[in-house]
Formats: sequence, C-alpha cells, structure tokens
Amino acid sequence: MTNLLCLSLFCLVQDPDLSTPEKAAESFGRYRQSLHESMDLRKARQEAQRVGLERFTEEYRSRFEEKAKQADTAADEGRVLNMSRTIAAKTENADGTVTFDVRFDWKQKRRDAKSQELTEVERSQVERYVLIKVGDQWRVKEYFRSCTACSGSGVCWSCKGTGKEAENRDCQYCRGAKACSGCKGMKSEKVDPRSVGIFANAPEERPQWLSDLSTPKSAAEAFADLTRRRRHEEGLATLKITEGRVKALLPFLTPDQGKEVEVALANAVRKGRDMFSLFRTQSVEPEVKGASAVVILTTKYGSTMTFTDRLELKKVGEAWLVDSVAERCAACKSSGKCASCQGSGKAGEVACKSCKGTAACARCEGKGWVRRD
Ligand SMILES: [Zn+2]
Ligand SMILES: [Zn+2]
Ligand SMILES: [Zn+2]
Ligand SMILES: [Zn+2]
Repeated sequence: MTNLLCLSLFCLVQDPDLSTPEKAAESFGRYRQSLHESMDLRKARQEAQRVGLERFTEEYRSRFEEKAKQADTAADEGRVLNMSRTIAAKTENADGTVTFDVRFDWKQKRRDAKSQELTEVERSQVERYVLIKVGDQWRVKEYFRSCTACSGSGVCWSCKGTGKEAENRDCQYCRGAKACSGCKGMKSEKVDPRSVGIFANAPEERPQWLSDLSTPKSAAEAFADLTRRRRHEEGLATLKITEGRVKALLPFLTPDQGKEVEVALANAVRKGRDMFSLFRTQSVEPEVKGASAVVILTTKYGSTMTFTDRLELKKVGEAWLVDSVAERCAACKSSGKCASCQGSGKAGEVACKSCKGTAACARCEGKGWVRRD
C-alpha cells in the first residue's frame, strides 16, 4: 500500500502495531477515536442532496441553502473537540486474554434550549477491549462501547433514574428498575463488528437519468428519478467510506471474525442493490393552472415502503421546476382532520386537547400535507 492511496484519516491505523497487548489496545483506541471524530458520512449524505438542485426554483434553492447552513452550524457545534485517550484499567484474565478499559475525554459545545447560550462541556466515555493472542499478535476478541441509549450513564434515559413517570406510575421503559433498559445498567454494550452499518443501495454503474423538464408530468417523473439518483450517489459514497472503515478494522480482528465481517459487508451490499432495483414511482395527472402545476407522486420502495409526495411546479422559461415538496401527512392520512377527535373538535363535553377545538390536524394544520423543504 502506497501513501498516495491514503486519503482518509484511517491511514493512521494501517498496519497497526499488535506486538504487545498495550500497543494493540492503543492502536485500536486510535482506530475508535478516528470513528468518533469522523464527519465524512454526514458530508457524503449532504453532498448527495445537492445533486440536481438546478431542477428547482430559485426560492426552493434559497430555502435549501438556508437549511443546509443551519445543519452545518449544528453539526459544527456538536463536533468532538480535543479528544484524548487513556488506558484506565488493565486486567489479565485466567484464560490468557487481557482486558483494557480505554477512556476517551473530549470537549463538546452545548446549546441551552431555553437561553440559546453556547457552553463548552467536558465529556468522557469508556470502551472495553478484550484482547487475545493469535500467533505473535494481539487481536481484538470482543469490544464494548459506551451504551448509546443512556450515553454510558447506566441510568434509565426516560425517567432519569427515578423509576417513576408522571402521576407516580412505574416508568414504562425500566419498569421502575431505574437502570437503562438498553444495557441493563451495565453502561456499555457489545459491538458486533458484523453489523457494518450501511444501507449500500447503489449499483456500481450509473444509469441514464431522466432529464426532460418540458411538461409538468415529465418534470415530476424527472424529480422522482432524481430522488433515486441521490440515493444512488449517497449509496456509492457511504459504501466507499464503509469499505475504508472495514479495511481499517480487519487487522485488529481475529482471522475468523475478519472473514465474517467481510461476508457481512458483501451481503449488505447485495441486499442493498436488490432493494435499489425495486424503486418504482407513479405520478397522477398534473393539475395545471397557468404557469403552476401540482403533481401527486407515489414512490414504492421494496415491497413494504410507500411514500406519497405532493409537488408544486412552476414554469421558468421553457422548464418546469420544482418549487415545493410536501409529504402525505401520516397523522391524519392526508384528510386534514384531527385524528384524536375524528374532526369533531370535541372530547366529550370539552374541546379536544390535540386540536384545541379547531378540528384540524395539528401536524399539517388541516392541509393534509407536510412540507419537506
Ligand atoms: Zn425509567
Ligand atoms: Zn444504557
Ligand atoms: Zn395531518
Ligand atoms: Zn381534535
């Protein structure tokens, strides 16, 4: 492997030193840290959403840029700062394995929900690595990360460890036990390296994409195709990142485990590609009024997922451009009526709490559609 091929931070952990348990734990800690600090998946997803933006009106694009800016700010605020690691404990086990607890310390900004004030908080997390000797190297037999449900506190995230809900009932998540139901209070969870964490839904070759914007119907179909194309671009980019991560992980695992991970990745890729081929869209005849049109678009993904979108198109020059995208309101199934009171506005003798007596669905404000842009 030449350094020229080394484009990501994972190069740091190529050919890790596994000659002693300490060195192996330190190298694996560095690999894990690179994952904690990485922002590349987010970037890949964001880039994919920019594909085909020229098919939208200027108003849509400026709303898009505004939202993207907010998301960037939030991601930047949430990023891991000054992360360091220390080996907090080492245990030599009777079966010849060695266990390390590695503590990660970092700083992170936090915005107060009420005052909007930004403060820097210190955070830490412990991971546990169990190492086993394979030949003359120390490999990772199993590893545990901080529980994601309770952020490693071990305390029930719902009742914050009181065991009770409002009205003094037992908490429905921990059933009064106060401990996190995800990790049972153990604070950590075992990582299964075979769960490669991707939805690689992209065939290798890029198909021809629809680009006829001359009629509302063809523009709506081109929009549906664009959704598919964005998924394709995202799939290709996230697959590349995942392959890099798996490649960096493999030297640490035992050979048997490494093979299982490679098989799992290949299966995920195949499954995702099968899924991608099941993407179908259908559009309803557009309603055209002068230079504006509305088209209802139904997308079936696989055999179980169906999405219905309502597009508003505008004629700009010779092209029909997308001006807004709304999805079918799931709360009222697009009827616009409050689901709690079935549109009566009443709960017995008093006004319905959910719609405050208006009878309109609170989620879509009675429109039946929720804007996505
Ligand atoms: Zn609880
Ligand atoms: Zn937990
Ligand atoms: Zn609704
Ligand atoms: Zn109501």
